Amino acid sequence: MTHEREAIRRMTGYTPGEQPERDDIIKLNTNENPYPPADGVLHALAGIRPEQLRRYPSPTSASLRRVAAAMHGVEPDAIVATNGGDELLRLAISTFVEPGAPIGIAEPSYSLYPVLAAVNGSAVIRVPLDERWHPPEDFAATMNRAGVNLAFLVNPHAPSGTLLGADRIEAIARDLDGVLLVDEAYVDFVDPALEHDLVPLTRALDNVIILRTLSKGYSLAGLRLGYGIGAPELLRPIATCTRDSYSVDAIAETLGVAALEHRHEAAVTWAAVRDERERLTDELIRLGCDIAPSQSNFLLATLPVGTTASARDIHERLRERGLYVRYFDQERLRDSLRITVGTPPQNSLLTAAIDRLLASPPTT
Ligand SMILES: *Cc1c(COP(=O)(O)O)cnc(C)c1O
Repeated sequence: MTHEREAIRRMTGYTPGEQPERDDIIKLNTNENPYPPADGVLHALAGIRPEQLRRYPSPTSASLRRVAAAMHGVEPDAIVATNGGDELLRLAISTFVEPGAPIGIAEPSYSLYPVLAAVNGSAVIRVPLDERWHPPEDFAATMNRAGVNLAFLVNPHAPSGTLLGADRIEAIARDLDGVLLVDEAYVDFVDPALEHDLVPLTRALDNVIILRTLSKGYSLAGLRLGYGIGAPELLRPIATCTRDSYSVDAIAETLGVAALEHRHEAAVTWAAVRDERERLTDELIRLGCDIAPSQSNFLLATLPVGTTASARDIHERLRERGLYVRYFDQERLRDSLRITVGTPPQNSLLTAAIDRLLASPPTT
């Protein structure tokens, strides 16, 4: 006998990237920043007082919201703090989507969205991305026709890394009847010369939420801290009703404040990742791969046409050599590997191994 809800019985859960316990693995499979968190964050960690652990944390994560608000030039009520960006995704669904009502996505994208939709008993309205990994012109119209009240766009896009301009996002948001959640998990790695900034959109429109996380840019995936930016009246029901009072713990809030205050230290790692992103792209192109132009900290590498081994095989053979990358058994992705940009030595080891695997015929 089973006790779970019908919708839960029918669903399959999220498959996270592998987190090996061995530390001799070159881990380029879950898009972590290859560099350590800022010194300022580690000092803040050493300075955690027992009293901070004895007491409940701020129910609204007041200090984190204040610092994030000042950084983005918005008021603190335009920020909601969450237990990782993933919690914001779940909260957006429980706040804006009636149980069973549809949720919209452009495919392929972050594989957690359909899982969270399934928990809500929601159908997923899937619109295929075009050949440049951009949503089609009629994205908003399709969502409106399907009665979607919440649509997710990940930008820079995952798993291709490509960036959609703020003007296109704005056009979609203006046409959309429901809420647009723009998942900016990787936005810290965008070239600053592009001056990409969606925050003004959250002041102009009352149906846009931006997701930010400290997991990737700030090297704090283990901390579980993210936040949303949006119009205060849009975020209010999340802040006052659906959010768990203490989902951001005292350590996360203290370290999050330190991370944002030492943003310039993290920014050094973003520049290093951008340099290596360019070098890794060039190297993989030299090996015959096709690479989507990435503004993120990962690349989607499509193996050269005519390669005898499949991407799945190459993924497995890299894994046997202690080199972890990500393979998605999904339409449009089966001939590709998603590779996190690592440190220069890590990237060199990876490209050398790929070079050898592409040159050697399959063993079977
Ligand atoms: C990493 C990631 C998130 C958020 O991750 P958290 O660790 O929960 O903050 C959200 N969306 C995408 C596409 C991601 O890759």
